[in-house]
Amino acid sequence: MSEIRNPLEIYAALAKINCGQCGVPSCLAFAAAVLQGQKKLAACPALASEVVAQLSRRLVPRRTLEDDSQQVIRQLRQEVAGLDFSLVAPRLGARLVEGNLVINCLGKDFLLTPSGEMLSDCHLNHWIYVPLLHYVLLCQGSEPQGEWVPYGSLPGAVEWSQWFSHRCEEALRQLADAHRELVFELLHLFGAKPVAMSGGADHALLILPLPRVPFLINYWEPEDGFPSKLNILLDRSAGKNINAQSINLLARGIIEMFRQLILRHSREGKLF
Ligand code: SF4
Repeated sequence: MSEIRNPLEIYAALAKINCGQCGVPSCLAFAAAVLQGQKKLAACPALASEVVAQLSRRLVPRRTLEDDSQQVIRQLRQEVAGLDFSLVAPRLGARLVEGNLVINCLGKDFLLTPSGEMLSDCHLNHWIYVPLLHYVLLCQGSEPQGEWVPYGSLPGAVEWSQWFSHRCEEALRQLADAHRELVFELLHLFGAKPVAMSGGADHALLILPLPRVPFLINYWEPEDGFPSKLNILLDRSAGKNINAQSINLLARGIIEMFRQLILRHSREGKLF
C-alpha cells in the first residue's frame, strides 16, 4: 500500500462541500492539514469510517517542530540530571535552594530540579527551556569582559547571523518603532538598565536573559527622514557560557513574548 504524499489523494476521497465542520474552511485545506499531521481524518464527519481507516494506513506520521523541541528537551534533561548542582551553581551565577538550581532570567526566577524539570511563574516554552538547559550544561562561568560584539562574531554564530539580524534585531526595531513607549516599559519590567555609552544610541539598555549572558540593546530613533536603527550586542564572554543557537532562541523568545504582551496591552490591540 503506497504512502500518501500529495494532499489531492486525500481530497479525492472528501465530500468537497467545504462545510467547515472539520475546523478548516475547505476540504482542500483539510486535506493539506491532514498530510501535515495537523488534523485527523476522523475530524471530517462526512468521511465514512472504512475510508478513514483505509487512508490512515497510508499516512506516515509527520514530526512537528514541537515534537523536535520536546525530544531536544528530553535529551538535555537527561544530561542535566547527571550534574552535581552544588558544583555548578557558582559558575552559573545561580542559587541553590533545597537541592534545586534557581536561575534568574530577565529578572524572573526559574527553578531547575535535579531531574531537569523547570518550574516558574512565567510561561515556559522551548524558547526559554532549551537555552536554560544549554546554559546549565555549557556555562564556563566566564565573567563579562565589557567588550560588546555583534552576534555573528561569537563562536558558531556565522550560520545563524542572518536569521538573528532579521528575526531578532529587525523584528525588535519594528516593534520599537510602532510601540516605543510600551517596548521600553517592557524592557524595564524585565530588568533592563540604561547604559551610558554605546555609539550615540538614543537608548542603550543592558538586559540579562541569563546571569552570565548579557545583551546590550541599542536603539536610534528615526530622525530627519532617516529610519531608526537597532542592534543587539553580546558581551564577548557569552560565547564561553552558552552556544550561539541558544542565544538566538533567547532573543527570539524575548521578542515573541513582547509581541504577545503588546497584542494584549496596546491600545489598538494590534502589532502594526
Ligand atoms: S468537514 Fe469534511 S466535507 Fe466539510 S469542509 Fe471539512 S473536509 Fe470538507
